[in-house]
Amino acid sequence: MTLRLSWSALRVQEECREAGYHRRAGRGLKQDNQRVFFPGTVLDRVVRDWLTDGPEKDTMPDMVTSVVDREWKNILDEGGSIAWKDARDKAKVIADVREACVKIQPDLMRWVVPFEYQADLKFRAPVMLPHPAGGLEQVEIIGAMDITVRDDKSRFMVHDVKMTRDNSYWRKVRGQLTYYDLAMFLMEGKYTSMATLMQPLCNEPMKMFRITDEERTQMMARVTAFARQIWMNDHTPRQDTTYCGYCFARSACSKFAPVTQPGGRRVVELF
Ligand code: SF4
Repeated sequence: MTLRLSWSALRVQEECREAGYHRRAGRGLKQDNQRVFFPGTVLDRVVRDWLTDGPEKDTMPDMVTSVVDREWKNILDEGGSIAWKDARDKAKVIADVREACVKIQPDLMRWVVPFEYQADLKFRAPVMLPHPAGGLEQVEIIGAMDITVRDDKSRFMVHDVKMTRDNSYWRKVRGQLTYYDLAMFLMEGKYTSMATLMQPLCNEPMKMFRITDEERTQMMARVTAFARQIWMNDHTPRQDTTYCGYCFARSACSKFAPVTQPGGRRVVELF
């Protein structure tokens, strides 16, 4: 079966190989309360629907309330939940996303709408990587990009939309954008000319990046190392406990498995 690698899986694997192993097995991932992600999900969906249905200026904010209700229902239908913080929380989410829509629209009108584009592009990009047994083997880089654009000079751009007010958030996305840049090269034979973070609630609502050759080389090395660890069945737990405190896989982790001591007492090693 073809090995598939996603950005989120790569991140988990790099934090801890054992956590990556449990993630691939689907252990400990279920998160019922999706309140923390919900505003971002709604903004993504409104932007996608607005771009897909044929964008018209100033209509986006009015789409928010119905998308909130639709996405909330989808979460409930899939067995999840949203724990609203208080009676006004839902109205606050709607107001925040409406504000983001008002602020993101001018950048969408300038950088996306005039060109050929696709919203919510789910991709599967094949790449040949060296297998530990010798030779090359095909792997698929998978994921979804919020917005991809081919401009009038056939240059590719990737835009990632984030619902954040954290003005330093952009520091966390460069790796993800480099991953998308690699996927674009594998699919289209061309790297991005620009990758951006659209963060309408921040002081700099459109943060632009040009991915460097060095970043591309490093990303390829990270993907290659990830595939190799899976092929080698390497799920060594991380030595230190940096990520253990809030790890989703802790209950299944070999490092914290109870040890039976003389006398039959079962103890868990704490840090
Ligand atoms: S608890 Fe720590 S060592 Fe175990 S899987 Fe999680 S991060 Fe890795």
